[in-house]
Amino acid sequence: MPYSVLREEVLDRGLCASCGACELVCPAEAIRFDGLQVTIAQPSFTDADCGTCNACAAVCPGADPATPHIEQALFGRTRTPQERWLGIYEQAYGGHALDDELFARSASGGSITALLQASMTALDVEAVLTMGRRPDDRWCASPTLDREPAALVRQAQSTYQIAPYLGALRPLRTSYPKTRIAMSALPCHVQAMRKLQQLDSPEGEWARSSVVLLIELACSSGTTPDGTRSLVEEVVGIPAETVVEIRYRDGAYPGGIKILASDGREHRLPFWRAVRHFADAKTHRCLSCGDWMSGVADVSVCDGDPNIFEASFSRPAADKHGQILVRTPAGSAVLQHAVANGLIRAWPLSAQATNLGLARKRNRRAQYELDGAAIPAGPIPGNVESIEPQPDDQFIPAPQEHGSS
Ligand SMILES: Cc1cc2nc3c(=O)[nH]c(=O)nc-3n(C[C@H](O)[C@H](O)[C@H](O)COP(=O)(O)OP(=O)(O)OC[C@H]3O[C@@H](n4cnc5c(N)ncnc54)[C@H](O)[C@@H]3O)c2cc1C
Repeated sequence: MPYSVLREEVLDRGLCASCGACELVCPAEAIRFDGLQVTIAQPSFTDADCGTCNACAAVCPGADPATPHIEQALFGRTRTPQERWLGIYEQAYGGHALDDELFARSASGGSITALLQASMTALDVEAVLTMGRRPDDRWCASPTLDREPAALVRQAQSTYQIAPYLGALRPLRTSYPKTRIAMSALPCHVQAMRKLQQLDSPEGEWARSSVVLLIELACSSGTTPDGTRSLVEEVVGIPAETVVEIRYRDGAYPGGIKILASDGREHRLPFWRAVRHFADAKTHRCLSCGDWMSGVADVSVCDGDPNIFEASFSRPAADKHGQILVRTPAGSAVLQHAVANGLIRAWPLSAQATNLGLARKRNRRAQYELDGAAIPAGPIPGNVESIEPQPDDQFIPAPQEHGSS
């Protein structure tokens, strides 16, 4: 099954999540990304060169995240309709990192970063993949590999930008295949990695033995890099090339946009302003996605405050913390290690499926299911949203429309 299958079934139907999994696995190293677009790096490459290889299509979560298949392998069962949006988990906690610097730099308390740090001793992880910035274009998201726990603090916080992520693991897979890896991941990254782990191939064997921890961020939807570029250039009014640092959740919870420019000036925007701006910078794949959490990570984390959009112009409904869903023995072992070693404070809670990001995602999914367009498969075959879709902007009214200032 050659690359043309990936093109026909995913790329041409607008279903590429730009997760980078095809670039990670292509044995011929023919697949690359130009921005968010899959390209063939070698112009003379044809279907015949693929032979019987179907690795790119087999790992792609674009059209089929293969959730039931993966759940069966991980949990011995598939989720029930009641588990539609949160998936299967062992235990839910509230939590936050105990290190002051990490807590301050994080999105919702630093649980993810603290757990990734803990994995380096609990699971002998040697390299951690997170989302950093391109060294040449500091406004632009780029996957980053770190080998020291302290270095992970730099990459803490949410980056509301899509970047081909998993391709960054390719040098480890090909040159240092025994390196033990943990990663932060959006739902589509988790799905691709789990699909890879299911493959009966050398690449699948690598993923099973080397990728030992997947920690997931809940995801309302990704935003294209153009969303950030236009925020910087049109709303803040400075050239993107002059950005030295951009942070999306800086300052008191839930935080806001901070942009440091090369002239030393600091620019700030409230979080709600960015959310509204980003609504126009989404791909069809992200908008029609049926997973707020993939449910097949080892641990999934979302904000402790269910509506950080509103909290960014009124008051947070909760102190800074995350809601942590532990799903697997590996996730449980890392959390226990993090608690025992003073990296994290965690308390049991009853998981809530109330979250603005989730409500927007459900609403959009319902609209796409009605439209009949090509959309990614959801986690329960045949399950459709039973809500009346509303215009998305009704979910994110500006403060004055709320009656606040
Ligand atoms: C695009 C996006 C949409 C989200 N939607 C929601 C939502 O609807 N509701 C909700 O409650 N929470 C949502 N989250 C998650 C939330 O913003 C926090 O990331 C989460 O609560 C974890 O916080 P933390 O303090 O534990 O993580 P931190 O300790 O701050 O660490 C976050 C880790 O994730 C990595 N990371 C950041 N962005 C990305 C990315 N784009 N791809 C891969 N890795 C990344 C960072 O590098 C870091 O390692 C979203 C996050 C993103 C990036």
